[in-house]
Amino acid sequence: MKKNTKLVYRRIILKISGEILKSNCESEMDLCLLNRMIKEIKYLIKLGIQVGIVIGGGNLIRGLNVKKIGVSVNVADYMGILSTIINGLVITDTMNRCDIKAQLMSAISVSGICQIYNVEKAIYLLSNQYVLVFSGGIGCPFFTTDSAACIRGIEVKSDIILKATTVDGVYSSDPKKNDDAIMYQKIKYEDILNQDLKIMDSTAIILARDHSLPICIFNMYKSGALYRIITGEKEGTLIIS
Ligand code: UDP
Repeated sequence: MKKNTKLVYRRIILKISGEILKSNCESEMDLCLLNRMIKEIKYLIKLGIQVGIVIGGGNLIRGLNVKKIGVSVNVADYMGILSTIINGLVITDTMNRCDIKAQLMSAISVSGICQIYNVEKAIYLLSNQYVLVFSGGIGCPFFTTDSAACIRGIEVKSDIILKATTVDGVYSSDPKKNDDAIMYQKIKYEDILNQDLKIMDSTAIILARDHSLPICIFNMYKSGALYRIITGEKEGTLIIS
């Protein structure tokens, strides 16, 4: 860390979607990108940043896809919820093997596998340099882990939500389909909602807006991105009021 570098955020919630655990692979899981990310997280911990991770399950099961084959709505979403716990086990185990103190919590009880989410315990662990992996979303069907990231962020009083994606930030339209798409450095919650920019689900954006919780959308494939964000350098798109 350079001399006089200021840390802009002290407690962060990192939202990692299941896709990130898949990297560019055909199979459901590939730990290349995760291993690199973990190195960056380890550096943040050394700097005294408190890190919570909300993990998705899209690489394994997404409720919507299971509904399409005829499974009931509730059951499909519970399958999705369980898939986030499987991913949570992988992340926690990988971090522990890299000598990072990490603990897995789940919104639903999976006795014998991990502890149930508890806000006081979560804050205690974060304050004691544990990386806390939040799995199980919020434990209810009809939600996503984006909303879970914002809810956990509000509950544990996180300074910001960092959403890792495969694009550099929020664009005026899909940059993979439209060469003229413009990337915003900053954008208001309201503009995301009004323009229906599908970078995060609207429930998550509304929750963040109502609790003045900033969100940063960034590209996880860009090495050093996490460090640049927490030191206030230009990286990704900041969503604020
Ligand atoms: N899910 C749910 N409630 C929650 C969080 C997740 O029902 O609070 C289900 C939902 O079916 C979702 C799946 O779990 O499709 C996986 O989560 P998500 O789609 O958010 O994962 P990601 O896209 O981030 O990998």
